[in-house]
Amino acid sequence: MSIDVHVHPWTRAFMKKNGPIMKACGFFKLDVSKLPTSTEDLLEEMDEAKVSKAIILGQDAHATRNPHFKNYTMKNDALREISRNSRDRLVPFAGVDPNAGEAALRELKRAVNELGFKGLKVHSSANSVYPNDRRKMDPLCGFCEEAGVPILFHTGTTGLGDCDIKFSKPEHLDEVAQRFPDLKIVMAHFGWPWPDVAMAVALRNPNVYLDLSGWRPRYIPAGVLPYLNGILKDRFLFGTDYPMMRQKEWLDDFESSMKPRLRPGVAEKLLRGNARRLLSA
Ligand SMILES: [Zn+2]
Repeated sequence: MSIDVHVHPWTRAFMKKNGPIMKACGFFKLDVSKLPTSTEDLLEEMDEAKVSKAIILGQDAHATRNPHFKNYTMKNDALREISRNSRDRLVPFAGVDPNAGEAALRELKRAVNELGFKGLKVHSSANSVYPNDRRKMDPLCGFCEEAGVPILFHTGTTGLGDCDIKFSKPEHLDEVAQRFPDLKIVMAHFGWPWPDVAMAVALRNPNVYLDLSGWRPRYIPAGVLPYLNGILKDRFLFGTDYPMMRQKEWLDDFESSMKPRLRPGVAEKLLRGNARRLLSA
């Protein structure tokens, strides 16, 4: 059984209302008619792919000025409902809009302390906010560090349209990790096209993790493998980016293309051990 740390609980109807997400479907060359229609579809897929748990990621752009993101927000209460209906197999990370100031911190506290959320997701490009923005981000990072819950940051390029990738460069997270040494940080998509920078940030900051989501294992650049097999073996996480990449598709590809190249014990760490430590579960 494995733990998928990067799942969007999106349905086709939700995706169709969002121009930037539809552009991502084009980026991933997806057949829109095969997108999930409910979160039941996700749970069925998890059973089939032998995924025991998945982190579902929130998103909030209600205070972001970019008009393309006006339908992007998913309420944390909706994620909580989805999680509850899954009998806790779907582990929610909150979405808050860093542009909302004190209201963002209040909502994050409510999500973690009252609703039982296990982390925060930040898509810096969707919110047009740098992760090392002291005024907008430090209060959120400080709270998560204190509460012992991780932040998963989108890093690197994005399939989402109508936003800028400059906000998601992995180098910004070095500053965050240095400022908040006990904060657990996940750099999604291993920061591609800057995987070397992302891995360098992880090497000097022991609480920084990287997920492999959004990539079929066979296409993951060869330069990543020595780190996954070696000095960063405790830091890589299995993630799909569902529904952009499907769990069975990822895991089948992994079995044939990547697993044979891994040292003993590394697959277990990647597929679940490291995620358990991340979630302190
Ligand atoms: Zn994603």
